[in-house]
Amino acid sequence: SPWRATVLTLFPEMFPGPLGVSLAGRGLASGLWELEARDIRASATDRHRSVDDTPAGGGPGMVLRADVLAAAIDAAEIGQDLSKRRPRLLMSPRGRPLTQARVVELAQAPGPLIVCGRFEGVDQRVIDQRGLEEVSIGDYVLSGGEIAAMALIDACVRLLPGVMGKEASGTEESFSEGLLEYPQYTRPQLFEGVPIPQILTSGDHAKVAAWRRAESEALTAARRPDLRTKAPNQTSGQKTPKS
Ligand code: SAM
Repeated sequence: SPWRATVLTLFPEMFPGPLGVSLAGRGLASGLWELEARDIRASATDRHRSVDDTPAGGGPGMVLRADVLAAAIDAAEIGQDLSKRRPRLLMSPRGRPLTQARVVELAQAPGPLIVCGRFEGVDQRVIDQRGLEEVSIGDYVLSGGEIAAMALIDACVRLLPGVMGKEASGTEESFSEGLLEYPQYTRPQLFEGVPIPQILTSGDHAKVAAWRRAESEALTAARRPDLRTKAPNQTSGQKTPKS
């Protein structure tokens, strides 16, 4: 069965949203992947269908209730094949920052269950009791987890077989080797008096590859030297010889 993302949210009407257009949208329409947006509020039990309450200990805002969220998670997992346990993610600014390496893993695993927080976040006990993996999309605070979930899903879906037109496009891009991508150019040959770098129109594939590699390395060293330390053995395009 296709890779399926199940999103638990207070705003299911936000989905598929941007995931319904372009590559992801075409893949969704043709069944290459599936998206299920479930309303957390459907698991509320009291008269007012309340999903949140004031923080214990005081402070501003509201917190998503553990009992309601746990019930929503359990309902989403009814009938799930236990041998194929899906990753259970919680979008959270406190989480481990999402990386392309984690995206590749998630695209290869059974599709995830993704909880979207709102307000001041969720009761810690549901994180602990349901073993939610907290995932951040960056060091800034969004008003809800939905846009973060969309970012994660989009990054995964474009790696699924058949979703991208050219299979190759996923393998040689930013982060694939701990490098940022080289600069890209296309027609016109002359833009505001600036030509495409001559080497790219030379037809010499080896030279083009070497130029791109050098540009990638220079760009990465200037902007994201931290990426290089995470991907050793990639300094010159050759494996470090065994000593
Ligand atoms: N009080 C929380 C804190 O300081 O960590 C922030 C809560 S935020 C206003 C509401 C929800 O948005 C979070 O529960 C989370 O689901 C989502 N969210 C906000 N920023 C995020 C980020 N950088 N990455 C992933 N999810 C985020």
